[in-house]
Amino acid sequence: MKIGMSHGAGGEIMQDLISDMILGNIKNKKVNGGVGLEDLDDGATIPIGENEIVISTDSHTIDPLFFPGGDIGRIAMAGTVNDVSVMGARPLAIANAMIISEGFSGEELERIIQSMDEVCQETGVAIVTGDTKVMENDKLDKMIICTTGIGIASKGAITPDSGLEVGDKIILSGSVGDHGISLMSYREGFGFETDLKSDVAPVWDIVQTALNIGGVNAMKDPTRGGIANALNEMTSKSGLGMYLDEEKIPVKREVHAASEMLGIDPFEVANEGKVIMSVKPEKADEMVAAIRKTKYGGGAQIIGEVTDDKHVILETSMGGKRILEAPIADPVPRVC
Ligand code: MG
Repeated sequence: MKIGMSHGAGGEIMQDLISDMILGNIKNKKVNGGVGLEDLDDGATIPIGENEIVISTDSHTIDPLFFPGGDIGRIAMAGTVNDVSVMGARPLAIANAMIISEGFSGEELERIIQSMDEVCQETGVAIVTGDTKVMENDKLDKMIICTTGIGIASKGAITPDSGLEVGDKIILSGSVGDHGISLMSYREGFGFETDLKSDVAPVWDIVQTALNIGGVNAMKDPTRGGIANALNEMTSKSGLGMYLDEEKIPVKREVHAASEMLGIDPFEVANEGKVIMSVKPEKADEMVAAIRKTKYGGGAQIIGEVTDDKHVILETSMGGKRILEAPIADPVPRVC
């Protein structure tokens, strides 16, 4: 077998590669009984004393490096901070490894580093260690950034993606499809006239607001494969289902228009600044109101609730129902 682009595109094909070739060939997959590799969560946990250390890592290959709403530096930092955050942990520190191609612009590199620093300052995270390598320009497409993040939570307070409970309300922190659709529109050379931008942003403020209110049973950031993938991962790992009101899922007018033109479902494309939360029903209204006051959570909505019927069911605007399936692969490649 040979690796194809869809093996890195956050859908069923990538999941199969991970289970068949990666998990099967690694023996030691967890530490001290924490969340480990086989749990395939946003990050792993290492219980130590009264705390759990959360660790998560990402490689970033986005094309192009600079896009409407951000650049590879912002996405590298926000992406890792967000994976640590949605585990229910306060992000603390980042390790940053960069592989740069020979001939890369020093000015652009500086802009990228400044974008990283901006996210760090906003979230109170420090870049504490790193590594820099250079490769011949015909062997690497401009740059790859690998970020590893560490965070901390009290023991037992983490929010795994498998923690859904029947009757929980599902909160989505804002509009979907902005990142993937804006990137695709930009690459295809249209969409310059619109305000459509990537949503790439750190979600720690949203997460912290929710954790302070309490009652969060599960969280996930809907990145590659979009909400279709994230919601199905949450339900299948929990052995439960969801009933969602499609009209409550915010999709910007420009995203809707561009998706139709591109023939892409905005529910299946990446977001880079959103959170899905499964919360105790009595906390949901207070939580949405509080999240709407945060910088990046203004569009938060309760989009539905957890059921015991094992499918993600969407009630459509026409009153019909359809099952929202996990995508085979994200329709837009190299989005993060
Ligand atoms: Mg994630």
